[in-house]
Formats: sequence, C-alpha cells, structure tokens
Amino acid sequence: MIYLDYAATAPLTATACEAMGDCFKPGTDALFGNANSVHSAGRTAFKALERARESVMRSIGAGRPDEVIFTSGATEADNAALRGIALARRDALSLEGKHIDHPAIIVSAIEHDAVLETCAALKREGFAITVLPVDAGGFVSPESLEKAISDETVLVSIMFANNEIGSIQSIEALAQTAHAHGVPFHTDAVQAFGKIPCSVSSLGVDAASFSAHKAGGPKGVGVLYLKSGTPFKPTMTGGGQERGFRSGTQNIAGAIGCAAAFEEAAARCDEENRRLMHLRDGLYRELGNMPEVKASVDVSPGSQSYLPNIVNVCVRGFESQTLILQLDLRGFCVSGGSACSSGSLAPSHVLTAISIPRNLAQGSLRISMGSDTTPEKLERFVSTFKEIIR
Ligand code: PLP
Repeated sequence: MIYLDYAATAPLTATACEAMGDCFKPGTDALFGNANSVHSAGRTAFKALERARESVMRSIGAGRPDEVIFTSGATEADNAALRGIALARRDALSLEGKHIDHPAIIVSAIEHDAVLETCAALKREGFAITVLPVDAGGFVSPESLEKAISDETVLVSIMFANNEIGSIQSIEALAQTAHAHGVPFHTDAVQAFGKIPCSVSSLGVDAASFSAHKAGGPKGVGVLYLKSGTPFKPTMTGGGQERGFRSGTQNIAGAIGCAAAFEEAAARCDEENRRLMHLRDGLYRELGNMPEVKASVDVSPGSQSYLPNIVNVCVRGFESQTLILQLDLRGFCVSGGSACSSGSLAPSHVLTAISIPRNLAQGSLRISMGSDTTPEKLERFVSTFKEIIR
C-alpha cells in the first residue's frame, strides 16, 4: 500500500507510540491515574499531563503552558474557539452597554466544515456571518478583511493553510488588521503545523487550533491555543478541568502522544518542508504534462505560498470516486477534496470558491504526502495513474 492521504490523517509515529506506552499497560503499574485526583496515582498522571502541555507550548510557540488546552481534536478546538470567543465578546460588549443587534463573525470561504458549520449554527443563534471570498489561488486579502470589519465584529477566524489546495494565508497581516479594530483573531493551523513554521506568538494570533493525528500523533486529541487574557466562555461545562476552559477528564495518553508527535514534527519541519516541496513540484510537473489533468491552483516550483505536501488536480472526464477506487484497487490511497466531503458527489466548497467549474471539480484528486513519501513511490503512483487514465 502506498499512502498518499496525509492531509486526512498521518500514521502514528514510533516516537508517539513509544511515549504513550506506559498508559497502555493493564493494571496499576501503568500510567492510569486521573490527573485531577489528589493521591499519588493522580499526581503522577498530572505531572505527565503538565509535561505534555509544556512540550506542546514549546512546539507551537506559545508563551505559557496555561495557554495550551487539550481537546478531543481540532473539530472541538474550532468549535470552542468560535463559540467561546464570540459569546464572551458579545456578553462583554453588552455589559459595557454597547448593544449590538447581530454580533458579527468573519471567516473565509475555504474554512474547514468545523468552522463553517459552527458559523451556520451561530447564525441560527443570532450572529451575523460574513464569508470572505478568496481569489483563484485560494487567498484572502487583508484589504477585503479591512472592508468587512465593522463595530459589530466580535471575531475573525481564517485558516492558516487550506486542507484541500494548500494555500497559505498571510496570517500575521490578517491578525494585525483584526487587532487594529480591537477584534480577536483565531486561526485553524491544523494543516500548517509541521509543514511550515508555525509559532502562534510570531503569527500574533489570539487563538489557534491543532490536531494531533495530522502530525503523527493519535486520533481524537487536539489543542486549542488561547492567548492569556482572550475573552472566552467555555462551551464544554462540567468538572472544570483545563482550568475551567474544557471540562472532562483529560486524555493523558492522547496528550503525551500529541506532545511527542508535535515535538518531532516541529524539529523536522524545515527539513521536511524542503524535501516535500521538491516532491510536490515534481508531481505537479509530471501530472501537468497529461492533457486530461489540470492543476486546481497554479503552484510555481519552489512556491512558499502553498503547503509543500499537497497536490490538487482535476481530471477531465472522470469522477473523483472512480479514480480513488481504481487507485485503491492498485494499492494507492488518495482522496478527492477532503476526507470529510468524500462520499459526496457535490463539488467541494473550496474548489467552488476558487471558481473551478462544477464538471471539472467533480474529478478532483488530492494527493498529500508525508514522512513516508519517496520519489520512487511517487513514480509508481504517476505510472499507475497514467495507466488508469489511458
Ligand atoms: N481543520 C482542518 C483544516 C482539518 O483538515 C481538519 C481535519 O480534517 C480538522 C480541522 C478537524 O480535525 P479533527 O480530525 O482533529 O477533528
């Protein structure tokens, strides 16, 4: 099997697996305690959790460990950031006596569904949602954000790098634009982490979402970075864990695995960026030579405006599903659009937003690479792909 769907999920790294080992032994010799218990088993778990928190803090460039909140994944982190900040800001403005009819949230048209669907729900609860368009390359302009911000804006959320086409936004500039109006800024940094430098302090964001499994950690674990002092109303209520920001007994093994994977991914980021970019450029060149294939975005060789590990093309006269299944039969795992929207024949909202015609978008393929991808594996992919098209 040749796995080329790293943007959907990455295999667990040996380091993450080993780091979690102590949690997966049966019996009381294991690291099994509840991190909130007062006794020694609890204290041991607590120490392990806090070590993981400090490690994640360093990997994502946060300033303090208490800015790292462990969640069940990036979907939860996105939900918590949007709801938590928007509701807190609305309440704070109302306490200041500033009555806003429809507090507004600004997002981009190519956000992950974890953001877009949360916005759809918040719209039903009285928020106004402004969706910023992107250009044909998949980029949001800080000017369009500047124009969209009003006195009613309570939050801006724009993803760092897109999960389908790989476009990377100028987060620093966008965050500065929001801050110039006193508006907090959140970014979904799930796909960017480990592929491009990703320090929340350098980006200047107030909140950011991360997912362990996209970087070689376990599934079902994520991180919400929340800069200290950012208004936040917890939506997960209960026992008050994670300093009240996210109730629920912490997933110690998940946090440890996440920390180990993030540490390794952050340390190898520059080297992997260069290696993968070379592979990306070669794959775009090979596929671009085929008359049936059109690159979904124009990625020039060496371009740092796109993730180094994602190649997205549309194949004329084919449906994604057919290609995915034909490739699967021959041992290759790729996806059409994102993993979440596969299974549906509707063209992806990302390809629609960059004005790819519907018939072409229906034949889209996303090939996403990672630690295990080599030039030889891509050569085999290209020759099999050509054979299928023929
Ligand atoms: N945001 C982006 C950009 C993603 O690619 C994904 C994963 O598909 C998510 C959020 C959701 O992450 P998780 O699987 O951890 O819920």
